[in-house]
Amino acid sequence: MPKSPSTVTRLLPSEDDLAKLPASQRIRYRLVSADCRYHANDNISTHVRPGELDELKAEVQAKMHDVLQALVIDTESDHNTAETARRVAKMFLTEVFRGRYVAAPPITEFPNISRLNELMIVGPIKVRSACSHHLCPILGRVWIGIMPNEFSNLIGLSKYARICDWIMSRPQIQEEAVTMLANELQERVKPDGLAIVMEADHFCMHWRGVKDDESMMTNSVMRGAFLKDANLRREFLSLLSKKDLR
Ligand SMILES: [Zn+2]
Repeated sequence: MPKSPSTVTRLLPSEDDLAKLPASQRIRYRLVSADCRYHANDNISTHVRPGELDELKAEVQAKMHDVLQALVIDTESDHNTAETARRVAKMFLTEVFRGRYVAAPPITEFPNISRLNELMIVGPIKVRSACSHHLCPILGRVWIGIMPNEFSNLIGLSKYARICDWIMSRPQIQEEAVTMLANELQERVKPDGLAIVMEADHFCMHWRGVKDDESMMTNSVMRGAFLKDANLRREFLSLLSKKDLR
């Protein structure tokens, strides 16, 4: 029988008890008690305390070592794999899945003083992500269309890439990644219209399964003015096609 949130809260140990647990369990307790989702593509940084990322790295390294053992790889005499567990743990936590563990990049938003109301296109922004299903790389590009109004906040061009990287550096599903990016930009920029197109190559299709080389996937999110105004949508998409979207 599923536990009610209040039952879960009552079973929670104090921070002193938590300190005795591995960091991953400690963080999970905090997430559960705060009723916070922690799917692969969720950011959990507000529940990770200073120093705990290093503890997580050590934990993942130990488990990764177990995976190599289970694969019957002799990590002791094979010098190629001797450091693999450590490398993979570091790669997961500080590089490819970093967007789960660190707070959003600090970004200054400026009021739209000159009242820009022209379609603005940012991209292509390089996407480096991984699929939640196989943890295989997803490499691609993103284009962002912004239709500002006088109440919008403007952010510097390079900041779009930083927000995109923060969202993508997690195990993702392309459709959800694009929606998450749209929500983040909607919240910060508050535009009249927002359009995002993502085109990406899914390596789980090349490396395994059907080994299909036609593994490019394109999807998009259209909001506000881009939904209501077919001409605006057409203008955005035609500008993209000139910018060599397949
Ligand atoms: Zn996959």
